[in-house]
Amino acid sequence: MGCRQVDFQHTMVRLAALPDAVAIDFKRRLGGRGGYLHLRRECLELFLKAKTGRFKSLGRSLDRSERVNLVNMLAEQLATNAEL
Ligand SMILES: [Zn+2]
Repeated sequence: MGCRQVDFQHTMVRLAALPDAVAIDFKRRLGGRGGYLHLRRECLELFLKAKTGRFKSLGRSLDRSERVNLVNMLAEQLATNAEL
């Protein structure tokens, strides 16, 4: 959902589309539609800058403030998992 490169899912973090929100599905246990994003600064940036905010993998769109929230949480995760 960031760089749109195809990659192995285990190298990426899953975002799950819940009925009223999009959650970060670190354990990949949430059902429903999901999109994958690399846990890398470049990909988070691209995800933030996406023009339409519409993500086919999620079957919905994310407005900028939702994306900012998700990216803030992911950036925190990135900081605590520096070895990734
Ligand atoms: Zn990426």
